[in-house]
Amino acid sequence: MGTEAMQERTEKNAGSVVGPVILLGAPGAGKGTQAQRISEHFGIPQISTGDTLRDHIRRKTPLGNQARDQMEHGQLVADQVVCEMVAERITRPDCERGFILDGFPRTLKQAQWLDRHLAQKHMFETDQGCRKQPIVIQLTVEYNDLLRRLTGRRTCPTCGRIYNANTSQKPLVEGVCDLDGSVLVIRNDDCEEVIVERLKNYEAQTLPLVSYYEMRKRLHAVNGSASRLDAITAEACKAIEHGDCV
Ligand code: ADP
Repeated sequence: MGTEAMQERTEKNAGSVVGPVILLGAPGAGKGTQAQRISEHFGIPQISTGDTLRDHIRRKTPLGNQARDQMEHGQLVADQVVCEMVAERITRPDCERGFILDGFPRTLKQAQWLDRHLAQKHMFETDQGCRKQPIVIQLTVEYNDLLRRLTGRRTCPTCGRIYNANTSQKPLVEGVCDLDGSVLVIRNDDCEEVIVERLKNYEAQTLPLVSYYEMRKRLHAVNGSASRLDAITAEACKAIEHGDCV
């Protein structure tokens, strides 16, 4: 999508209710990158459970101390902990028009909890009594591409922008953020051993969510190849704009 068309859409979307958006995909599929772009397009916040957990670890909160070990070994953090974190975050005023979940839900239990929670809290209900259901965008990427992306991933510790030393998403100057000049960092869990564990966990725990959302007719699969960065955003935004009210 061209910049002008994108801007026009962004303005058009400024006041409307978007509802919940879920980005589903393996580690390295590009959820974070697309979540940032979709968030700018619709003017709704990106909620990354991974980023929130890493923030807790940096601040050494009780939750962070509890989650650190699991994250460093590529294991999932307990459902209850993550669900409580999301429950608190989505009640904030900036989520009134909608939000993008990046990295949540990751297990069947989390998906069931989210559906229950949105219904119980009457979130995104219209005056006509119908409710905006979550739109799920699944980013599909081949295993070898995932490995290549994860081993090249670099993040800006200041603004959170994601770069990749192994793809076309390189920064202008190696190792430095284009936006604020910070030195880019490699995540603790982006070492090969932990990456393989995370991919295994994805297949076992998160892949079942594909059929969960497919059965509920909420799934939009998008080819997540790196060369399609703009096309992915455009396809995802279109699916979100056409989301049904049930
Ligand atoms: P990636 O998708 O590339 O693995 P994330 O930043 O989304 O990266 O997650 C990093 C780690 O944070 C996960 O491996 C897991 O330990 C923890 N985590 C993030 N989201 C969840 C979640 N919804 N449920 C359980 N653990 C989570």
